[in-house]
Amino acid sequence: MFVDRAVIRVKGGKGGDGAVHFRREKFVPHGGPDGGKGGDGGSVFIRASSTKKTLYDVTLRATYEAPGGENGRGKNQTGSNGEDIVIEVPVGTQVFDSQTGELLADLVCQEMEVLVARGGRGGRGNASFASSLNRAPRMAEKGEEGESRELLLELKLIADVGLAGLPNAGKSTLLASVSDAKPRIADYPFSTLSPVLGVVIHGEKRLVVVDIPGIIEGASQGVGLGLHFLRHVERVKLLLCLVDLSPLSPWSPQEALSVLRREFDQYSTVLTQKPFLVVGTKLDLEGARARWQELQNFLTENRLEGVALSALTGEGVTEFLDVVVQKLDAIEREAVFLVHEEEKSGLSSLRGERQLVYRFQSKYLERLLDEFRSRDFLKENVFNQKLYESGFVRYLRTMRPGSIVEIGGFVFIWNGKELRLKRDHAEKRFD
Ligand code: GDP
Ligand code: MG
Repeated sequence: MFVDRAVIRVKGGKGGDGAVHFRREKFVPHGGPDGGKGGDGGSVFIRASSTKKTLYDVTLRATYEAPGGENGRGKNQTGSNGEDIVIEVPVGTQVFDSQTGELLADLVCQEMEVLVARGGRGGRGNASFASSLNRAPRMAEKGEEGESRELLLELKLIADVGLAGLPNAGKSTLLASVSDAKPRIADYPFSTLSPVLGVVIHGEKRLVVVDIPGIIEGASQGVGLGLHFLRHVERVKLLLCLVDLSPLSPWSPQEALSVLRREFDQYSTVLTQKPFLVVGTKLDLEGARARWQELQNFLTENRLEGVALSALTGEGVTEFLDVVVQKLDAIEREAVFLVHEEEKSGLSSLRGERQLVYRFQSKYLERLLDEFRSRDFLKENVFNQKLYESGFVRYLRTMRPGSIVEIGGFVFIWNGKELRLKRDHAEKRFD
């Protein structure tokens, strides 16, 4: 079952209590305090995994609580720590604090991980409180409670191109004909009940296309299925608006287009502002060419771009892909703030167990770095401030301290708070 939204409660484990205990040995009448420290409670993490396709599994439980730490014991024995728990979610999941609405993390690459509820610290045992004034303290700390909060998880698929269109426009058929995906195709509306991702290889370019269930009029008010699925085209670089050229279609292409545009408007300006291309479908059907003529006139008048094709006969498909790739290349060159995975996994290499390498492509960051470089020095604190303001920090928060971050040839280390330029690289760049 495809589920793209989940509300869960997460709770870190309670820290173990510190022990009050005194050494008891034969022939030693007043043994000193030897109560050990309680173990730390386990923490809760959320991690993106490419093997997960839906949030369905996550919704099976309402609360995720990590185990507590063990209490401390005599002979200065520290209780063992509670184990961390890791909730695996699909790549593309955004993690929000459901109370404040704050975006905690945007897990756009595989293996990105965010701490959502820290376990409580274990309490110190009475051995820790011994001093010259009090050689036999009877006090120990209780373990801290773990952090607790309610989270909203929202999956927003990550794709380069999104297919939008009214039911039956031919979205699934087109995806099936140009990609490796096998979406369901039928004559009745809503044959696609969950988004389908397909990979298209055209020339040198590899692009991911997402097919979402048909948008119908009123979808943005929650009528029908469409509204819900629009979130999966929120992050695409290019929207394709598919319109049926068949005269038998209940909507003329122009009507279909205006319904689509209206739905985008009502959903979010994010969609309205996205670059889009109009695609007339089913060109092989009788009367379709006449409709394409009309549509072309309409597009020209409105200075819009469009192509026509038949997924059935293949007519126009290569030209269509050429246009898509050309537009994507232009968009990627111009993008103001684009972050995505360099390789499929998002990790270009794995050095050691914990040091992960993230390579980000971002015109915005690269420009920022160039600006710094032209002044011959890189003020890390200013750069970090800019990152914070740009919202980039939400990606950083998902990385373990010690992770390597590469941006436009610069290599940084994320220390958990800020990015520090890796010095050996810095010297090479700035000498
Ligand atoms: P979706 O609802 O937008 O995903 O549309 P589908 O891909 O399921 O297609 C709806 C109907 O139109 C199906 O019966 C398809 O066989 C048909 N169809 C799709 N593309 C073409 C085409 O290029 N030519 C013809 N003749 N029929 C098509
Ligand atoms: Mg479909």
